[in-house]
Amino acid sequence: MYADLHLHTRFSDGTYTPEELLAQAQHHGLRALALTDHDTVEGCAAMGALCAEAGIEFIPGLELATELGDKEVHLLGYGVETSNEPLLQRLAQFQQARQSRVCEMVARLNTLGVPLPPQAVFNLANCRSPGRPHVGRALVAGGYCADLNEAFDRYLKRHRPAWVPKAKGPVAHAIDLIHQARGVAVLAHPALNQSDQLIGPLVETGLDGIECFHPKHTASDCQRYLALAKEYGLLVTGGSDCHGMSKGRPTIGTVKLAYEYVEAVKEKLNRLATAPSR
Ligand code: AMP
Ligand code: FE
Ligand code: FE
Ligand code: ZN
Repeated sequence: MYADLHLHTRFSDGTYTPEELLAQAQHHGLRALALTDHDTVEGCAAMGALCAEAGIEFIPGLELATELGDKEVHLLGYGVETSNEPLLQRLAQFQQARQSRVCEMVARLNTLGVPLPPQAVFNLANCRSPGRPHVGRALVAGGYCADLNEAFDRYLKRHRPAWVPKAKGPVAHAIDLIHQARGVAVLAHPALNQSDQLIGPLVETGLDGIECFHPKHTASDCQRYLALAKEYGLLVTGGSDCHGMSKGRPTIGTVKLAYEYVEAVKEKLNRLATAPSR
């Protein structure tokens, strides 16, 4: 009985449709899953309906990129109300910023002599939450780069000529946003952002959990985060961070979260549902 609580679809920068993601989840025998697209909960209705039909437990979620000091901190929000107005309004702003950022990246590419029209990226992305992978795929589709790696290495990686930093809000605001939508806020893949030192302060700010299991975490990372979760009394989560075929091979199935951790998340969500809002 396993779960995967970190999955992306075409509603952000994953390549799977909800139907394709469901097929993968069934193939890997998942008992529960959470959808965590970047800056959007749009896919949750379809994914939730498909999971219900298939007898897979579904937790609506999202992933937000935030900052704390000079560190980038990714947060996962689980169990949020997907029709929560303040949440939807804030997400619409993040999506607008993502669309402007695509235009800026394309303008830089144009200056560099790559005549990619912005519409090529938007057509390919076909979602409200486009990101660098879409620009990269458009570069490959247009024949300007051999593959996505080349697109990132030449143009899109941090400090490369077409890189535009993403507008990120303070982590405390994102935690509050998730809480007021009655969700729990979980620190995503802490080893990727070297954010160990931030866990104490984040707990003070209201963090509810740590993503201990992630494909890019080593066995010792997992052990360290499990110990920290225990020390601070935090929820433990994990998932494959699967983006479909985006990076060559889908990662779904490589992280199997024991179902007992999902039960703990659900218990906390149930307690919050009956408690006065935070
Ligand atoms: P963004 O949020 O628009 O800055 O894009 C971040 C996304 O780009 C994440 O899903 C990353 O995994 C992906 N990404 C970052 N670097 C690379 C790379 N070198 N090749 C492919 N994808 C990458
Ligand atoms: Fe992503
Ligand atoms: Fe992330
Ligand atoms: Zn992710």
